[in-house]
Amino acid sequence: MREVDILIMNGTILTMDPDQTILERGFLCIQGDAISAIGNGDPDELRASKIIDAKGGLILPGLINGHTHAAMTLFRGLADDLPLMEWLNHYIFPVESRMDREFVRTGTLLACAEMILSGTTTFCDMYLFEEEVAKAAQVAGMRCLVGEVLYDFPSPNYGPIEEGLKYTEALIRKWQGHPLVSIAVEPHAVYTCSPDLLISANGLAKRYGVPLIIHVAESASEIEEVGKKYGKKPFEHLESLGVLGPHLIADHCVHLDDAEIRRMVKHDVKAITNPESNMKLASGIAPVPRLLAQGITVGLGTDGCASNNNLDLFEEMDTTAKVHKVGAMDPTVLDALTVFKMATLSGAKALGMGDRIGSLEVGKKADVIVVDTHKPHLTPMYNPYSHLVYAAKGSDVSHCLINGKVVMEDRKLLTLDLQEVLRSAREMSKKVLSWLSPPPLSS
Ligand SMILES: [Zn+2]
Repeated sequence: MREVDILIMNGTILTMDPDQTILERGFLCIQGDAISAIGNGDPDELRASKIIDAKGGLILPGLINGHTHAAMTLFRGLADDLPLMEWLNHYIFPVESRMDREFVRTGTLLACAEMILSGTTTFCDMYLFEEEVAKAAQVAGMRCLVGEVLYDFPSPNYGPIEEGLKYTEALIRKWQGHPLVSIAVEPHAVYTCSPDLLISANGLAKRYGVPLIIHVAESASEIEEVGKKYGKKPFEHLESLGVLGPHLIADHCVHLDDAEIRRMVKHDVKAITNPESNMKLASGIAPVPRLLAQGITVGLGTDGCASNNNLDLFEEMDTTAKVHKVGAMDPTVLDALTVFKMATLSGAKALGMGDRIGSLEVGKKADVIVVDTHKPHLTPMYNPYSHLVYAAKGSDVSHCLINGKVVMEDRKLLTLDLQEVLRSAREMSKKVLSWLSPPPLSS
């Protein structure tokens, strides 16, 4: 009799392995933090400490949110319907300049609750006070790749930029080898970081063998600004600084010409697309079908909650598939399977985690979700990928396991006290409003 820790059974498994194997009446065994067996039919000679009955639903790899600013959940709905630069300069940067550790902890716990409840098991974050993000993810039991945002102006966390690089290095050293938390070096963007900063940040990433993450070519005004300042396109500028490489994860990648795409291909740069944020800020439509056709690894992200305004990757998948169809006026671009892959295996590869997560295969880490398909909007089911991208919602996820641990069971969060998370978020919103109001006139 074989003993396993957890057995998930009685569901259709979409493995997302290289052959996209689908196992009807599938079962999946977890031993410790990893998948120890996977198959279909009745698992014989098996005793499990815990059995999860998928009740005929779908068993999937956990979803991967390739780009977040998690704590911005606390800015959701604070300022909408504005152009990117006005939104950043008049709302986001002023409140961010006054925020603190507690704000980031509260906002990230809220984000983790939302992500787990909608089937996300890994997120890649860029923000301030990132140590708090790492700690919050650890509490929630979520896998993450996080890094302190670096830019030329002083940060409310670390002060001058030299301290920002030191802070990042300390984070890398502290979390090295952690089972859930990985650290990246994260300069904000080409228009907010000097060439010196970009070179130093890249040097640090190279020294420790960690990813370098940056927003690139997000808006037309960025292209104009970078063009005026350096006489180059963003990737061209990064290439001239020696910063392009397979370790670079570029968020957005909206405004690209053929030469820019060639540079991405040449240096095996990874891309994360954030279509809902790009739509909301009217930044444009990223040339995702072209990037994929060129063999570029593209993952999917929501971006922060102030420009989305949620962290539900099911919604993001739906939008991704549709925005490119209407953008190209061609319904055959980006089919459902391709989009689902972006939220799973390709997302994992983009974050440098393709050997550990992103698909359900023996030996990989047990990041698994179960989708309840006994719903009017998911019945009948002819093609599971179609339902996941075009019909399912985050709230259809019934179970969520990360690194072999059950973090949500039958829609109940097991690692977080949801009521307490919500209470703290409401409390913090009072602080946010006070940060936005003009300072009192001095008498
Ligand atoms: Zn962003």
